[in-house]
Amino acid sequence: MTSAMHPLLEQIEALLAAPDHRDHPLHAALGQLYRLHVDEQKRLERLLNIADGYQQFTQTDLASLKQQYERQLNKERKLSRISDRYQQLMRERNQALKTAATHDPLTGLANRRLMDEQLIQAGVEAVRGGKPFCVAMLDIDHFKQINDRYGHDGGDRILVSLADSLRGQMRAGDLCGRWGGEEFVLLMQNTSLEQAGQIVARLIEYLRNLTFSVTDIPVSITVSIGVAEHSMVEAPLDTVNRADRVLLDAKQEGRNSFRLAG
Ligand code: GH3
Ligand code: MG
Ligand code: MG
Repeated sequence: MTSAMHPLLEQIEALLAAPDHRDHPLHAALGQLYRLHVDEQKRLERLLNIADGYQQFTQTDLASLKQQYERQLNKERKLSRISDRYQQLMRERNQALKTAATHDPLTGLANRRLMDEQLIQAGVEAVRGGKPFCVAMLDIDHFKQINDRYGHDGGDRILVSLADSLRGQMRAGDLCGRWGGEEFVLLMQNTSLEQAGQIVARLIEYLRNLTFSVTDIPVSITVSIGVAEHSMVEAPLDTVNRADRVLLDAKQEGRNSFRLAG
C-alpha cells in the first residue's frame, strides 16, 4: 500500500500479517475484504486519473478554441475597419463627384446644370404654393477690358471675389449660380418683382463701392442686371430669357444699372 494509507488500513494490514491471528476464524474473510478494498481503491484512483486527464484535455481544447476564435474575431474586426474606411472613401468620392457635376470649379457657385434644376423646382413650388419667384441675370460690365488690363488670371480673381460677394449679399433661401463666363444668375424665392428690384438696386450700389484686389492692385467693377418675375404659366427658363433680354436693355442704356421685365 502507499504511504498515504489510512491508519485503519495500516492497522488491518498489521493484524493480517501478525502470525498470532493467522488461525483466527475471521482472518480469511478480513483478508478478502482488505484486498477487495485495495482493488476498489486502485480502480477509483485510475478513474480519477482518467477524469483529471479528460478535464485537462478539455481545458487545453477550450484554450485553443478560444485562441482560434479570438484570431478570427481580430480578422473580422480588421475586415470591418477596412470596409468602413472603404465605404467612407466611396461616400467622399461620390460627394466630390456630385459637387463637381453641380458646381463651378472656379467660383464654387452652383453651375448652370444645378441652376436649371433649381429653377424647375422653383417653378413647381411657385405653382403649388402660389408664391412668385424672380430671376436676376447679372453681367460684369466691360469684363473683356479687365482681362486685357490684368490678364486672364486677374480676371479670374475678380470672378472669384465677385462670387464671394454675391454669396454674402444673398438672403437665406436665395440661390446664386454662375450661368457662364462673367454672367451670374440669382434665384430669389417667394419674391415679387418690386422686392427683387430693391434687392438688385442695393446689390449694384454695394458692388459699385467695392474694390477687388488683383495682386494688390485695387480694382473696381460695375455690373448690369436684368430681372424678371416668373409668371405661373411660363417655363422657368423663359423667365431667365426675359431677364436676359432686359439685361441687354440695361447694357444698351449705359450699363451699371438694372432693368425690370414688364
Ligand atoms: P459687356 O459690358 O457688354 O458685358 O462687355 P464685356 O467685355 O463684359 O462682354 P464680352 O461678352 O465682350 O466679354 C466677356 C469676356 O469675359 C470675354 C471673355 O474672355 C471673358 N471671360 C469669360 N469667361 C471667363 C473666365 O472664366 N475667366 C476670365 N478671366 N475671363 C472670362
Ligand atoms: Mg456676358
Ligand atoms: Mg460682360
